[in-house]
Amino acid sequence: MAQGNSSFTRRKFMASSLGCLASAGLAGLAPGLARGQAAAPVGQPDGEIIYRTLGRSGIKLPVVSMGAGACNDAALVQACYEIGMRGFDTAASYAFGRNEQMIANAIHRLGVRDKVVYITKIHEAARRDGLADDEHEAVMRKALEGSLRRLKTDHIDILMLYDCRSPEPVKNPGIVAAFAKLRKEGKARAIGLSTHADMANVINAAVEAEVFDVVLTSFNFTMADDTAMLGAIDNAGKNNVGIIAMKTQAGGGRFPNPETLQSYSGEVINSAALKWILHNENVATTIPGIGNYDHMRADFAVARGIEYTDEEAKFLSDNRITLGMGFCRQCSKCLASCPDKVDIPNLMRTHMYAAQYGDFQKARRTIDAIPSSQGLRTCVDCNSCTAKCVNSVNIGKKIAELKMIYA
Ligand code: SF4
Ligand code: SF4
Repeated sequence: MAQGNSSFTRRKFMASSLGCLASAGLAGLAPGLARGQAAAPVGQPDGEIIYRTLGRSGIKLPVVSMGAGACNDAALVQACYEIGMRGFDTAASYAFGRNEQMIANAIHRLGVRDKVVYITKIHEAARRDGLADDEHEAVMRKALEGSLRRLKTDHIDILMLYDCRSPEPVKNPGIVAAFAKLRKEGKARAIGLSTHADMANVINAAVEAEVFDVVLTSFNFTMADDTAMLGAIDNAGKNNVGIIAMKTQAGGGRFPNPETLQSYSGEVINSAALKWILHNENVATTIPGIGNYDHMRADFAVARGIEYTDEEAKFLSDNRITLGMGFCRQCSKCLASCPDKVDIPNLMRTHMYAAQYGDFQKARRTIDAIPSSQGLRTCVDCNSCTAKCVNSVNIGKKIAELKMIYA
C-alpha cells in the first residue's frame, strides 16, 4: 500500500494494515549466535523473503539490507549474508575505509560477490567548495578507486554521493556529469545520493536531475505527518527512482527513552518502525544499523512479513509516544529560535551518535566539523536554552547532555 501525500493520516494507514503474527523463532539460522540467545519476537519465519526492485536501476533486494556502519565484525557480515541479506551499505568514510574492507573480507571469503549488492558512498567532491565543474571527475574517480580497492571489486553496485544536506550538490553539473560518466564506464551499476537533511527537497532535486537511479534517505515513522517528505517519496516512486530508507527506527527501538519503555518494549518499537516504512511500496529496501546478532535476527524477520502485530499496531497508533520520540529530522527550522545562531541540527546529530549509538568517533567528527562560532562553546555561555524545535526534540535537554560530554 503506497502512502499518499496530503490525504495520508496515521490512523487511516493503520486501519488497513492490522494483522497478527507468530513469533519468529529464528535462532540457529546464523553461525556465531550465542547459545540461549532469545529468538526474535516478530516476523514470519516461514514466509518468503520479500524482494523489491530499486527503481530504474533494476536491482532487486530483500526489503531489509545490512546497514553495516555500526558493525566491526566480519563474522556478523557473513551471518547477515547467510540469513538472507543481499544489500550491504557502507561508505568510504566509515571507520576510515576499514568498514568497506571488513565487508569485502567476509564476502570474498564466502565467494559470493556476484550475489550481493555493495552500496557505498563517496563525498569529496560535494564537500570541496570552489571546484570547477571539470575538476569533480578527477576527485571522484580517486575516491571511487579507493572504494574499489578496499571492496576488492571492479565495480560498485550502487555508488552514492554522501550526505547531501541541500539540493545544491545534486544540481551541480560537474558532480552530475562525473557520476553519470562513472556509471557509463561500468564502474558503478547505479548511481545515487544519500541525504539526512532537507530530505524532501533533495529527493525532488534528484528526481528532477533525471540522472540518479537511487536515493538513500532518512525516513521513519516520526515523519508520518510530514506531507512534504511523503510527497517526495511518492514523486521518486512515480519517476522510477529507487528509495532506500535509513534511520529507520528513529533511535526508538534500540535506544528508547524511559517514557516510551513504560508502555512498549524495544522489540515492538523496532519491528513496528521497520514495518511502517515497508508499507510504503516506494521504499525498495531499508538499511537498519546492524551491530550484533540480535539486531540481525530481529530486523531480518521483518523481511519475511510486514503485517503488524496487535502490539505494533497499538504503538504506531499511539501519537503520544510516536510523535514524542524526539527524533531530529534535521529540518533546520530551529535555527531562527537560537539568538546565537548555533548549529543545532549538527549538535542534535552529535547527540544521536554519542548518546544513542554510542559511536563517539562519529560524534567527535560531527562536532569538530561545526565552526566554533556556531558550536557548543557558544552554548556554554547560554544559561537557559531558548531554542525551539518544530517537532518534538527537547533541544535544551540534549544541549545540556552534550555539555556534560564535551564542554
Ligand atoms: S543553549 Fe543557547 S546558544 Fe545553545 S542552542 Fe540553546 S539558545 Fe542557542
Ligand atoms: S531540532 Fe527540531 S527544528 Fe531543529 S533540526 Fe531537529 S527536528 Fe528540526
